[in-house]
Amino acid sequence: SSFKRLLIVSYRLPFSIQQTNEGPELHQNSGGLVSAVLSMAEQMGPTQENSATKIHWIGHGDTSLQQVDAAALENDTFVAHPVFMDEAVHKGFYEGFSNDLIWPLFHYFPSYASFKEHDFESYKQANTRFLEELTALIEPGDLVWIHDFQLMLLPDLLRQAMPDISIGYFFHIPFPTYEIIKLLPRTWRQALIEGLLGADVVGFHTTDYVQHFLQSVSEVLSLPIINQRIVLPNRSTFVKDFPISIDFNKFNTSGQDTEVFATQQHFKNLLRHNKIIFSVDRLDYTKGITSRLLGYERFLLQHPDWHDKVTFVMTVVPSRDKIGQYQELKREIEETVGRINGLFGTIGWRPIVYSYRSLTFTELMALYTACDVALITPVRDGMNLVCKEFVASRHDHKGVLILSELAGAAQELPDAIIINPTDTQEVADAILQALLMPLAEQEQRLMQMRTHLQNHNVFRWSHDFLTALNDMINNPTDLE
Ligand code: UDP
Repeated sequence: SSFKRLLIVSYRLPFSIQQTNEGPELHQNSGGLVSAVLSMAEQMGPTQENSATKIHWIGHGDTSLQQVDAAALENDTFVAHPVFMDEAVHKGFYEGFSNDLIWPLFHYFPSYASFKEHDFESYKQANTRFLEELTALIEPGDLVWIHDFQLMLLPDLLRQAMPDISIGYFFHIPFPTYEIIKLLPRTWRQALIEGLLGADVVGFHTTDYVQHFLQSVSEVLSLPIINQRIVLPNRSTFVKDFPISIDFNKFNTSGQDTEVFATQQHFKNLLRHNKIIFSVDRLDYTKGITSRLLGYERFLLQHPDWHDKVTFVMTVVPSRDKIGQYQELKREIEETVGRINGLFGTIGWRPIVYSYRSLTFTELMALYTACDVALITPVRDGMNLVCKEFVASRHDHKGVLILSELAGAAQELPDAIIINPTDTQEVADAILQALLMPLAEQEQRLMQMRTHLQNHNVFRWSHDFLTALNDMINNPTDLE
């Protein structure tokens, strides 16, 4: 390792501010990216003993951070650097360009995409605000790792401002085929792709996304590509798949926690030891929640012998529900749940136990370990971590994963029952197959998947990415 300090840039900061008696305190989130970055800091930390060892994290500063002084924005590991911006710029950048254009378009929902010139101006301004914060902070020898679709312009902005700095970029959502990219105005698609090429390494979850990106690079910029390196006048950009993952040991260990076990037993009792099908996702049209409900309905319709013997526990975590499309989706889900429960339910049996809220970690673990079937059916998902967490939680080697082929994770988990969520009959058949699967087969499939995830965990992800970045830094023009 050859870098001095690590600077992480993402839309969201890895903390929230909590008011305590001693004043505001930084509360660290426990998400995948945070634990990956923490372990990476240990593995590849600064080489000079006396240099500052803290990781700097640059992210959008919401209004709650505006009142907090800099000293409170630091703990033993992280220094947070909030980027503040004009509210109207933020709205066009985040709600507009990011969530109302890039998100639907890149998840193959072009009819949901809204193309507003004004939003693109805000997106450029917001990326420039991030650049200003960064350039004030960067010192020679620092390494900058930029994350996700809100900051596609930033790598090149930074490259122009500081040509010698090492820049990594990871894209957390699908990168679609060129036919989709082509829907963007010519100047926009050119700016976005040039923006990404400012990085030394651009990472995606799967080889498909890598191929799609390289295809767009050739179509839009006609640049030569040799061995996944895009050849630029004075340098090159390396493109590779790095499938993001989870902290396997954390989920494996928590699956054996006594409080988790107690909660799991409590849930099983409440459901009168019915077979349990479980799903959890953020409210999003990419998650295939309605298709899933229709598959379950078809199953109940075709298999009356399973009535009263199975319960589908479906949790939807609130997300973006101020946006019209999300409100409409929520209505559609709740109407469908109500219809199915009304159609099949009895005084003593509710076919679907639905909740619209977030789960505590203990509840989530209790449900991962209580269920007989995890039903994960996105119509498009960059990776999907929920299915990996379910597998890692099952130290007992029991339970069946049904997984959509449209999730990035399906590339890594062929031992799941792989379905296409738009095929209602296939989903219904998969539910029956899962409920009837012999324990020996459950165990065999889970062992395969667990071995894969144990080796391909989130620490491997960040380690592999930074290794590739280091190789590029040491070998910037070697195309062999
Ligand atoms: N999760 C959560 N709150 C909950 C339930 C789940 O934060 O109430 C977590 C879950 O453990 C997983 C993440 O949310 O780590 C969802 O990640 P995924 O990649 O599956 O989907 P995304 O929401 O990022 O599209």
